[in-house]
Amino acid sequence: MTGNKSAVIIGAGIGGIATAIYLAKKGYEVSVFEKNSTPGGRCGQLIHDGHRFDLGATMLIMPDIYREVFKSLGISLFENTEIKPLKNLYKIYFDNNDILTFSPDKEIMKAQHEKIEPGSYARSQKYVTDGYEIFQIGMNKLIGRNFDNIFQFANFRNVGMLIKLKTYISNWKYVKKFFKDSHLRMAYTFQNIYVGQSPFDSPALFSMVPAAELTEGSFFPKGGMYVIVEKLLSAAHSSGVRFHYNKPVKQIRVTGKKADSIILEDGSEINADIIVANADLPYVYRKLLPDKAKSRRLDRKKYSCSAICFHWGLDKVYPQLGHHSVFLSDGFRKGLDRIFIDKSIGDNPSFYVHAPVRTDPSAAPVNQDTLSFIVGAGHLDKKKKQDWDDLKKKTRLAVIKRIKQAGLDDIEEHIKFEISYTPESWESACNITRGSVFGSLAHNLLQMGYFRPHNQHSRYKNLYFVGGSTHPGNGIPNVLLSAKLTAERILGN
Ligand SMILES: Cc1cc2nc3c(=O)[nH]c(=O)nc-3n(C[C@H](O)[C@H](O)[C@H](O)COP(=O)(O)OP(=O)(O)OC[C@H]3O[C@@H](n4cnc5c(N)ncnc54)[C@H](O)[C@@H]3O)c2cc1C
Repeated sequence: MTGNKSAVIIGAGIGGIATAIYLAKKGYEVSVFEKNSTPGGRCGQLIHDGHRFDLGATMLIMPDIYREVFKSLGISLFENTEIKPLKNLYKIYFDNNDILTFSPDKEIMKAQHEKIEPGSYARSQKYVTDGYEIFQIGMNKLIGRNFDNIFQFANFRNVGMLIKLKTYISNWKYVKKFFKDSHLRMAYTFQNIYVGQSPFDSPALFSMVPAAELTEGSFFPKGGMYVIVEKLLSAAHSSGVRFHYNKPVKQIRVTGKKADSIILEDGSEINADIIVANADLPYVYRKLLPDKAKSRRLDRKKYSCSAICFHWGLDKVYPQLGHHSVFLSDGFRKGLDRIFIDKSIGDNPSFYVHAPVRTDPSAAPVNQDTLSFIVGAGHLDKKKKQDWDDLKKKTRLAVIKRIKQAGLDDIEEHIKFEISYTPESWESACNITRGSVFGSLAHNLLQMGYFRPHNQHSRYKNLYFVGGSTHPGNGIPNVLLSAKLTAERILGN
């Protein structure tokens, strides 16, 4: 025994590993218990037959947040690691065979905009400038800080801030003020799905996402997004953090106002001064803690959508796809309603394709391709009839039909193998409530800032939370900030 304080962390996702480093650097003895055999959670990686897949996150956006958090962890992210800005953010395919190349290069954007809707380029610039201002205000006042009481969030001065952050208008209504063309409206709002939401039902605050992408760019690390996990892991090991894999936690034991220990599935008990849950917060309340009333309250909250994913190893390269491609269907609204209202998936769904070989040939054997498809889907809902095997089959057919129309006619013949995920597999892979992989709790105003479940338990004061389901929310930049804020809460900074 060293006499140092001890901390256990439940889960080796980005949030858990980053928090572990902060605590270890301040002298805590930190042990991380992860249910799976590998770290990374929703930023995991799979290598099969020479094909490398990023199973969750594929885009490194908002690089300044990475820089800030990594610097505070003492890690130099961009040094000795090849992290390239992408020339183009994504290729957007529309049903009429038009393609819009979304790019930080203003000349590329101007030419395309003026062709689609004369005069729209200048308006797009305003959309981006305003959106980036929202991002900066949001970072300072809403996302990048801890709230200690409701008055810090809901006060008279913040009413002005919430108006500036465009929280009073839906993202779709807002974009309509800028563009008449429906394809442009879709191109500037589909990014809402990154936080598991529909632009028809989420605040225009989220116009900050395309604005941040177009202003700061989108990056990709050689070796895939898992490089982020590896960098964090290496720093954690150097700081003395101990990792225990294949160790699912089944209970957090509490007495009075204290969380005493964690109990593993194998029955062993580990005591600690501090417990940090990186596992999905509603899952922790439901499965690991005794407080059922709070769990029922969480159950009544809004949840983000889920996704069906297909990962294919192919024996042929399809160079026409961009590193990131997005297929937006003309039934955009209908498709979103199928996801968010019916908790299902549309017949002609919009979807995203990751084709990393374009910028990182190491993602596949020579002359072969590695493609991942992410199709937004409803989350698990016991009140709906959901046959995920059937939906997966239908979705696969719809995706293949659509990419064949885009000129990849022989693609089916070149799929060597497929690995797929449904909302059910997401739920079991990472214990994500309802398979709501983008959060899991939705990011509506009443579930953000002070209103999002807090990163410290209200009764067991030595129990903390970190990750996408606590403050500030989903996406690696937010989860990194979450680790910083949770560590500040623990360390009293
Ligand atoms: C398909 C998809 C695409 C995405 N794309 C992007 C993107 O391009 N860019 C981006 O920035 N973000 C993206 N995201 C979001 C990003 O991946 C997540 O926000 C982030 O990885 C979540 O990290 P976390 O630490 O909060 O949680 P997790 O990664 O879920 O980590 C929690 C860990 O806890 C473990 N755990 C759970 N229960 C237990 C238990 N009982 N005992 C022990 N361990 C347990 C889990 O196995 C997991 O490893 C995407 C997500 C998905 C699903």
